Amino acid sequence: MGKPTGFLEYERKENRIIPPEERLKSFQEFHNPLCGEERRRQGARCMDCGVPLCQSAMELGGMVTGCPLHNLIPEWNHEIYKGHMPQALARLLKTNNFPEFTGRVCPALCEKACILGQDDLPVTSHDNELYVIETAFQKGYMRPRIPSVRSGKKVAIVGSGPSGLAAADQLNHRGHSVTVFERDDRIGGLLMYGIPNMKLDKQVIVRRQALMEQEGIRFRTGMDVGKSVAAQDLIKEFDAVVLCCGAKAPRSLPCLEGKKIRGVRYAVDFLKETTQSLLQNGESSAALLREKRGLVPAKDKHVVIIGGGDTGNDCIATVLRQGCRSVTALEMMPEPPAERAPSNPWPQWPRILKTDYGHEEAAYLFGKDPRVFETTVKSCTANKNGKLKKITTVRGRFVNGTWTEDPASLKTIPCDLLLIAAGFTGCEPYTADAFGLERSVRGTLMTGPGSCQTSIPGVFTAGDMHRGQSLVVWAIAEGRACAREVDEYLMGYTSLS
Ligand SMILES: Cc1cc2nc3c(=O)[nH]c(=O)nc-3n(C[C@H](O)[C@H](O)[C@H](O)COP(=O)(O)OP(=O)(O)OC[C@H]3O[C@@H](n4cnc5c(N)ncnc54)[C@H](O)[C@@H]3O)c2cc1C
Repeated sequence: MGKPTGFLEYERKENRIIPPEERLKSFQEFHNPLCGEERRRQGARCMDCGVPLCQSAMELGGMVTGCPLHNLIPEWNHEIYKGHMPQALARLLKTNNFPEFTGRVCPALCEKACILGQDDLPVTSHDNELYVIETAFQKGYMRPRIPSVRSGKKVAIVGSGPSGLAAADQLNHRGHSVTVFERDDRIGGLLMYGIPNMKLDKQVIVRRQALMEQEGIRFRTGMDVGKSVAAQDLIKEFDAVVLCCGAKAPRSLPCLEGKKIRGVRYAVDFLKETTQSLLQNGESSAALLREKRGLVPAKDKHVVIIGGGDTGNDCIATVLRQGCRSVTALEMMPEPPAERAPSNPWPQWPRILKTDYGHEEAAYLFGKDPRVFETTVKSCTANKNGKLKKITTVRGRFVNGTWTEDPASLKTIPCDLLLIAAGFTGCEPYTADAFGLERSVRGTLMTGPGSCQTSIPGVFTAGDMHRGQSLVVWAIAEGRACAREVDEYLMGYTSLS
């Protein structure tokens, strides 16, 4: 514990958020770091509790609280306060391969479990983590760690999202020769083509890729395993194969089944297209992008987004930057309470209303929160050219698990772009089929309990493909756990943590 009285002396201060009126002008990240001196004070707020729930990943009330990577948070908070940044980095990298990703996009399960949070505001562990890794890159502590001995074993990783990257990183550091196959033109999975630039600048992924390549990992993009690359060829050529293909099969809406309407899009396709055009045009200014024809599918449109999760929020922020005329976000669940209910006490994950950056920006531009709860789309109306023009919404609620509508609540609103962010139904089947692997009822790949090994010896799985749609931090945890099993399979034992 750096400073025993730190939590009494210093108040919580987060990285400064650029206000909506400024940040809406671009697709750039919108947090400015605190100065080093203030960051040290934030490190000093950590109490080094005897039982640090922040690193526990306990399941309480049906949800996990605390860090799934078991990050050694009190230890690096101590080093931050002492100003020992190489030591802070060493402790951080022991459990987390990519703090530059989690330090930007993680919802910080650690902070929700912070003991200080019981009576005061929790330690800024999320911002502290980002400070450690970004300082390390700036000061040159992040040097390639090239394995001195190679095992002679070859591993293929299919999919380059955070789970595939974590498995690749771990196995490469153990001395195995790793090749990552990715069907997209760039690596990163949903880090690259899901989460928008505002939350994660794509250069952060490029920087990590360069480091991993220097360490010996081979990336092969444009390789679609199960289509352009045969599953059997991978099994023959490599000693082990790890499938980390995500869970991107989107959930549709009953009212859209069998219909083709222009202007109805899946959210992830829309977000991917936006990021691709930003990268291709080297453009981050929202105004300049709006001037370019064809790059701004939401310009002057009435946009409706179905789904109130992270994806829905990212869509709100994106269409605002594209100059939409209005934005409405429909959510079937009831509005959560502003504060914890008595049945949801600390340190459980708080089931409260989360107002994210996109909601805040929409409220700034249009004067109200864009979310409408307990509401969904009943029908869509297109013009004679098949282009979406309006939708009819209906209010309802879940009664004993069944969605029950109020027929008197039908309402028609203009809508020329409908983005479906209603979740996912599991992994896309073709890769599993190419390997002859079974999927569970949740659409994930089947493995033994608590294992990443599939029914084919030497073929493993990790991340959303194994766990179902989740979080970046869980994908990294899955990639690490899977790497341990692969290493044991290849070597007969493992020294990976
Ligand atoms: C819009 C959006 C926003 C999100 N925001 C957050 C957030 O803020 N914080 C957070 O923690 N989580 C967030 N998530 C969730 C998080 O991104 C995922 O849980 C995480 O990326 C899963 O990692 P993964 O490696 O399992 O799969 P993915 O990231 O989905 O990567 C899978 C990769 O496999 C590739 N692939 C698939 N099939 C093949 C094949 N046959 N051959 C070759 N390559 C293949 C895909 O192209 C992809 O690159 C968000 C998700 C979405 C959709």
